[in-house]
Amino acid sequence: LFLSLEGIDGSGKSTQGRRLAETLRRAGHAVTLTREPGGSPGAEEIRRLVLEGASDRWSAETEILLFTAARRDHLEKTIRPALLRGEIVITDRFADSTRIFQGITRGDLAGVVDRLHALMIGIEPDVTLLFDLDPALGLSRAQARPGTEMRFEDMGLAFQTRAREGFLALAAREPRFRIIDASGDPDTVAARVLDALRPVLPR
Ligand code: ATP
Ligand code: C5P
Repeated sequence: LFLSLEGIDGSGKSTQGRRLAETLRRAGHAVTLTREPGGSPGAEEIRRLVLEGASDRWSAETEILLFTAARRDHLEKTIRPALLRGEIVITDRFADSTRIFQGITRGDLAGVVDRLHALMIGIEPDVTLLFDLDPALGLSRAQARPGTEMRFEDMGLAFQTRAREGFLALAAREPRFRIIDASGDPDTVAARVLDALRPVLPR
């Protein structure tokens, strides 16, 4: 089972990913919890290339190639082996983040993102949980977090608002999405996650 967690910055994906992995492990499942950009040693190196330094270091085209290269390594080294071992794979972000974030900054490259995905990645998660949250709440949560490395923090509320709308539009088109109301305390959100996944989880 291949699950991805998506949503705007500060929507609580990482928190809920950790909790979900713990709950599933306690129920006896083997779980690989991973993240993007990153999730394999090579992809973590690419993550540093993309997220560190000036935001204009790479052109939009190069950035899409770097995210795709990172995803390819993540797929080869982490995701596919774990799926072949029969594990549940939970990834904190996957291709939808590229569709939304890079698609928002350069809408004209949306077709390129999709073609590269078809050529080099080729798989989609079985289920994608979209953590849907008011961007103002997401931003204040993310800013309160210690050691934050949010590259798009400076792009602020307007950017996150467009990202939220983009994710919701994608979710409306793709049946693999489950929209999770990400407001409320972590226990409440975790219960919503388990409710949404109950029909697909192996027993
Ligand atoms: P990013 O995409 O920016 O990495 P994220 O979606 O992974 O963010 P988290 O890192 O899980 O989000 O959460 C962001 C911050 O909000 C953290 O400090 C976390 O402790 C806090 N937080 C997570 N869930 C909740 C919640 N339900 N209520 C309040 N605070 C929360
Ligand atoms: O989710 P995480 O906090 O690890 O993401 C790091 C940063 O990279 C975030 O600011 C996120 O918005 C950004 N990002 C991006 N394009 C992607 C994936 C993440 O701009 N495809």
